[in-house]
Amino acid sequence: MTQSLDLAGIGIGPFNLSLAALLDPQTEVSARFFDRRADFAWHPGMMLPNATLQTSWLKDLVAAADPTSRYSFLAYLVATKRLYRFISAEFDAILRREFADYMGWVAGQLESLRFEQTVSAVDFGPDGLFHLTVNDTTVTARNLSLATGPVPATPAWAEGALGPNCVHSSRFLLDAPKVAGRRVIVVGGGQSGAEIVLDLLNRSDAAAPAAVTWISRRPTFAPIDEAPFTNEYFMPGYLEAFLAQPPQRKERILASQKLASDGISHATLRALYQRLYEITYLDRRRDFAALLPYRDAIALDGGSGAYRLTLRNGFDGGIETIDGAVLILATGYRIALPACLDPLRPRLSLDDDRRFVMGRDYCVTWDGPDDRRIFAQNVGRQTLGIADPQLSLMAWRSARIVNALMGRTVYAVDGDVSLLRWETAGDAGRDLKLAI
Ligand SMILES: Cc1cc2nc3c(=O)[nH]c(=O)nc-3n(C[C@H](O)[C@H](O)[C@H](O)COP(=O)(O)OP(=O)(O)OC[C@H]3O[C@@H](n4cnc5c(N)ncnc54)[C@H](O)[C@@H]3O)c2cc1C
Repeated sequence: MTQSLDLAGIGIGPFNLSLAALLDPQTEVSARFFDRRADFAWHPGMMLPNATLQTSWLKDLVAAADPTSRYSFLAYLVATKRLYRFISAEFDAILRREFADYMGWVAGQLESLRFEQTVSAVDFGPDGLFHLTVNDTTVTARNLSLATGPVPATPAWAEGALGPNCVHSSRFLLDAPKVAGRRVIVVGGGQSGAEIVLDLLNRSDAAAPAAVTWISRRPTFAPIDEAPFTNEYFMPGYLEAFLAQPPQRKERILASQKLASDGISHATLRALYQRLYEITYLDRRRDFAALLPYRDAIALDGGSGAYRLTLRNGFDGGIETIDGAVLILATGYRIALPACLDPLRPRLSLDDDRRFVMGRDYCVTWDGPDDRRIFAQNVGRQTLGIADPQLSLMAWRSARIVNALMGRTVYAVDGDVSLLRWETAGDAGRDLKLAI
């Protein structure tokens, strides 16, 4: 067993990578981050060639906390000798591939990262330390940073169907279901569903499916709301107002914000519409693509490669069935407690839905000593708001975790004030300090 760490990070997605990058200059902190992957990768199953970032590249791993960091996107552009051409290319939104490459470039420089290391168990010992089983060794640490990401969500009717002909979108490129010459059904009207449908419609003759059907529960294929005032939801000042609200009100507010995070980007919608126009009027292949909004998939019959999906149409109340050989479930993700926390579970405070109860500074509430903290990222949209699973506040949140860990203001990120007045004037909530 080696010397115990100040912080052990579980998972190296963007969120713990951001934390690792901001901790890197803090040489008095011993931190190590573990990931089971062989190398850094960002949603490789959905890294479609033309997919773009739904966030400004300025919201990179570090800049919002430390614009002088050597791990900024700007630093990456300079180091990889492309700054002038990047400016000249005038991307409305940068390619996701490039942002993943940037994050991989940062990961390649951080000595605190360890890949091919699976954390299979975490317990708290009588020595007052967390004990992590990492591959075959034990690592001890005073604090944890959990960022293992959400897990794919599959609808109840699809349970048991996953296989070579039925894949979740998160594995679309990894499992690469055989679509050539076959009827493909894509379920889910968000960005992932849209990107997959666009990819299928764009495939050339030999690789093209026989037909593509796209189903969305929403009344239409709805755009993401990226308007300036909506973007206020993704700023620290708004978060402070949101946090002061009681749970039921938070739920209602979140429901009203759905399209601010889950809608389809305008560029993807336009590309899809133009492709559909081309297929319909120029190629005259009216049977090739069918877009079915306002449909709730309610039952799946048939076996692998010969599916029959039953849909309820919210527009006119009708019931219909469609047949397909391949089913792609672009049905989103859900938060789940990682199995490695099982030994600690009796000591964690969980709510009625078995979610973490969050305390100050992104710490999970548990019955251990106050100076032994479990920081957790991307686990609490219900309590921490719409920005929690997004990149927008990533660097800001990492900075707050660094400050909490080190017990002083290393990064001065507090004091953001919203341009809008969210709370009722005189409401006590206005005076609350950030409660997380
Ligand atoms: C396709 C897609 C595109 C997105 N695009 C955007 C966007 O443009 N803008 C935006 O704001 N948000 C976007 N998001 C949302 C969000 O930014 C990402 O989901 C982001 O990857 C979340 O980061 P994370 O660090 O929480 O988790 P993840 O990226 O999921 O990383 C978690 C890591 O933990 C590792 N891990 C898990 N368990 C263990 C274990 N026991 N031991 C070791 N390692 C473990 C996994 O291997 C993984 O590498 C997108 C999401 C998806 C799915």
